[in-house]
Amino acid sequence: MSDNWPPEQVSLNEGARVLFLTKNLELIKQQLYNGLNLRMEDLSVEDLLDDINTDVMTPAWVCFDYDPAMIANNAYAGLMHEGERVFAPNALKDGGFEAIVTGHRKGTGSSRETAAQCERWSGIRIVIAASFAPIHERNNINLGQLMGDHEILKRLQDGESISLSEFTSKYDSVTQLIIENGGIFPFAKKLKADEIELPDVDSTHRPMTMAEKIISNKLIGLNGVAKCVSPGDAVLAAVDGGYSHEFTTAQVHRFLQQEYGDDYAVPNPSKFAVFEDHLLYATGVPRFGPFEEKIQLLRDLQISFQQHTGVRDYSAVNGISPGICHQVAREEFIDVGDFIQATDSHTCMGGASNALTYGVGSTEYANLVHNQFAFVKVPESIRFELIGTLDDGCTAKDVILHILWKYAKNSETLDRSMEFGGPGLGSLSMDERATLCNMATECSAKTGICEPDNLTVEWLLSRRDDLTEEDIRSAFVMPDVNAHYDGGVHTINLDEIRPMVAHPGNPDEGIPSDPTNGAYIDELGDVSIDIAYAGSCTAGKDDDFAYYAMVTKAALDAGLTVADGVECYIQFGSKTVKDLSERNGWSRMFEQAGVKLIDPGCGACIGAGPGVSNESEQVTVSAINRNFQGRSGPGKLYLASPLTVMASAFTGKITAWRSDLFDEGPSWN
Ligand code: SF4
Repeated sequence: MSDNWPPEQVSLNEGARVLFLTKNLELIKQQLYNGLNLRMEDLSVEDLLDDINTDVMTPAWVCFDYDPAMIANNAYAGLMHEGERVFAPNALKDGGFEAIVTGHRKGTGSSRETAAQCERWSGIRIVIAASFAPIHERNNINLGQLMGDHEILKRLQDGESISLSEFTSKYDSVTQLIIENGGIFPFAKKLKADEIELPDVDSTHRPMTMAEKIISNKLIGLNGVAKCVSPGDAVLAAVDGGYSHEFTTAQVHRFLQQEYGDDYAVPNPSKFAVFEDHLLYATGVPRFGPFEEKIQLLRDLQISFQQHTGVRDYSAVNGISPGICHQVAREEFIDVGDFIQATDSHTCMGGASNALTYGVGSTEYANLVHNQFAFVKVPESIRFELIGTLDDGCTAKDVILHILWKYAKNSETLDRSMEFGGPGLGSLSMDERATLCNMATECSAKTGICEPDNLTVEWLLSRRDDLTEEDIRSAFVMPDVNAHYDGGVHTINLDEIRPMVAHPGNPDEGIPSDPTNGAYIDELGDVSIDIAYAGSCTAGKDDDFAYYAMVTKAALDAGLTVADGVECYIQFGSKTVKDLSERNGWSRMFEQAGVKLIDPGCGACIGAGPGVSNESEQVTVSAINRNFQGRSGPGKLYLASPLTVMASAFTGKITAWRSDLFDEGPSWN
């Protein structure tokens, strides 16, 4: 890796190659293995793969390595053709490529920085796409990668030398500085050494959205002077807390050792944490069994990091996790008005508590946990004004699937803060609000955030001894009247929401598996299922379990158990959720009905636990958040609400819940 990157003038090096990820996968193989060199002028953007997601770039098992050089050996291991890897081990590294080219929305999916690392440590320094998913773009910036479009590529291939500013001018001034200095670490060091001067923020008073207000409350370097911020402002903001898990902590530890020496310190560890929640059941999945040693090393390095820094320790006890990081964090330490960052894309779930929370990559997290500030580009906002109340057969999951289908699909939520408010929000429990915020990341939004109310106070007080009502209310952040929403204000009438799924598409025919593939259940026709999975950070909360219990009780009362041929799994989001389920007698009831209960943690959601499919023909209905091809096994996955998942487990096909569903025997057939 060159220390002199990026140069003032950017050109393709003599002999360096450009890899085009074409929809015609044979062409990719020709480039990788037979020396085919393509030119942009001979292709159109439509010929290139869209929606390359991070699971394709570095599937979960690739992330069991924490050294970026090792990760690069398996770059794009998730891109499959007729059951075979398109990219053999080391294929990207050995190809001598300097630039890589795709179509739209490069890097959707999780926040995993390994996706960006696999390219950089394969020698790629220029990444070309029509558009990038926000977190992936950020990860590229933090690693000092240059991103450009297909027109820039044409000029580079024509031998032109292009000024660095052409790559950076689309960004705010701080992002430009980060890229010009080669990434977030060199930038942070120069900032500390006073070698970089930050641009000032316009202090003109203006009405602000909730996200803007929280950022303006956290601005650093202003000596207590209150300032307003606007979308696009590039600022440094104090971070209140954060967390990482065993998939990511090892890299954080390693990067900090590399940058600041073995005796680096984390100055304020009390609201930072590590979680053992993602890989507890991974070694029980046959395809992950061979990685047992690597997984253990990740666990060991997380323990080393925790002991070195003194951050909160949420390690498994006797092999049982305290719970999924996002769920436990909102239960135990995210406060109203906080600015929280963590190494997982569903960090945005904390927005239910009226906090600004979003996921970052390992490099950015390592920087913020050490330096206690984050670079923030103030996001635009889009507001969803909820009115009415949900029908008994619907949950917040149906609302967010509706938003994915009607708004996110058209990129209206892209990189924006999704602000939820209005009288309808008051009718949704705190757990339901968490579902809305959780899936902001599937909307490719920056984050989701809810207005606070009495329920916020009650929910926090019932869980937290360290808070008073006054503490909570005084921290409330409401949007200003006349705040500006670049994405507009959209009324969602909850009365009109109908039970929905996101269908698995047909990747072989160019329809990607995507959470935006909305469809109403009553228009789906018969879809028989093999697996019903209920759990994950999206659907492992107290109120999700109340839904599972309600449907299960109705089924048992009607003399039903889980349908023949269907495997039904329910996984607790945290230990407190498990305790609740046991106290209420739900756990016994689930088992009576033939449900398999799984201890707290992440599992099927990342293909690393019980509930994954094993055959491509298997059909799963799942309460999780992503249906990307291959993420939870090779089968077809429909995303649905907790009510739909449980109702379907008993009927054997995708079925919306209604209170009289089981009254007249198997009339759903
Ligand atoms: S349950 Fe799934 S989406 Fe949620 S934190 Fe775990 S792996 Fe990520």
